[in-house]
Amino acid sequence: MARAYNFSAGPAVLPLEVLQKAQQELVDYNGTGMSVMEMSHRGKDYDAIHQEAIAVFKELCGLGDEWSVVFVQGGASMQFAMIPMNFLGAGETADYVNSGTWGNKALKEAKKVAALRGAKVNVAADCQKCIPTRQPVEFCWTPGAKYAHICTNETISGAEMKSIPETEAPLIADMSSDILSCERDYSKFAMFYAGAQKNLGPSGMAVVAIRKDFAEKGPDTLPTMLQYRTYTNENSLFNTPPTWGIYIFGETMKWVKRMGKENLFRLNAEKAGKIYAAIDSSDFWTGTALPEFRSNMNVTWRIKGGDEALEEKFLAEAKLAGLSSLKGHRSVGGIRASIYNAFPMSGVDALVSFMKDFEKRNG
Ligand SMILES: *Cc1c(COP(=O)(O)O)cnc(C)c1O
Repeated sequence: MARAYNFSAGPAVLPLEVLQKAQQELVDYNGTGMSVMEMSHRGKDYDAIHQEAIAVFKELCGLGDEWSVVFVQGGASMQFAMIPMNFLGAGETADYVNSGTWGNKALKEAKKVAALRGAKVNVAADCQKCIPTRQPVEFCWTPGAKYAHICTNETISGAEMKSIPETEAPLIADMSSDILSCERDYSKFAMFYAGAQKNLGPSGMAVVAIRKDFAEKGPDTLPTMLQYRTYTNENSLFNTPPTWGIYIFGETMKWVKRMGKENLFRLNAEKAGKIYAAIDSSDFWTGTALPEFRSNMNVTWRIKGGDEALEEKFLAEAKLAGLSSLKGHRSVGGIRASIYNAFPMSGVDALVSFMKDFEKRNG
């Protein structure tokens, strides 16, 4: 078996242990004689998987009984629409931070809903023009806003919010690419969510943590599947949930627990630190994000002067060396190493030594 060092931004590398367990259990889960994919979502075997996945995630995030954790299909992008549909009514205002591509996508969806309903969206901070270098540090919040929305890690630019802003309004965060990757006080939020395919499991759903009292605010007039209460009241079992994805999510959370959060967070900082050190050690490379906003999950950089032909050569040779998916997002170019929780240290070491070797031959 040859596993590539997979630097993909998402869907991304999963823990090998998790994949191997899934493989073992693929055709016969725990003596049931069937795959998790084949069993009823209302039976007791699946129920145990479902409950455990939620319980371990809540434990890892330090969430108490006042929180619900639900699974919603449509990825993080569906959340961009559901949030204003549930929480932004006529005559009301929501604050949005435009920190980059993802922050802006959330903002655009909110504006659509606001236009339909006669509500307002205030851009509390805008640094999209400085993309891909930073996250905002100054904010202009609206008094009485119904909620404030941020994106904690801009996956494309590689810029991470190193401290969570204080807001009076309930705070909602898109944490798709840095959830459970570093120490964070999740109790500050009214709601946070992540498309599963970066740090949590396979693609196809968002994991949404929402305070029960906040979920109550959605209007009854919403279509059932777009209403958070449908998910919180029915434990994500109103209709058939993405059972296989939830099973892998649960196994991934158990893996995080076995690794130990502190240990994992330390390793994440160490992995990113090694690549940033390699970038900073030579004039041949330039980091994209400003040092104080550098993401530990998505490391972005260029060859000095933005030499695209040489970057192409780097990517092609890296691929041959077993270092896969290092190409920067098509909107920004350059090089990006996504090194989520499951990405191994050995892959970072391989990348750093490949960078040194490439520079020696081309510098
Ligand atoms: C990947 C990503 C998304 C989009 O997720 P989908 O599940 O594809 O909708 C949204 N926000 C951030 C920060 C992301 O990294």
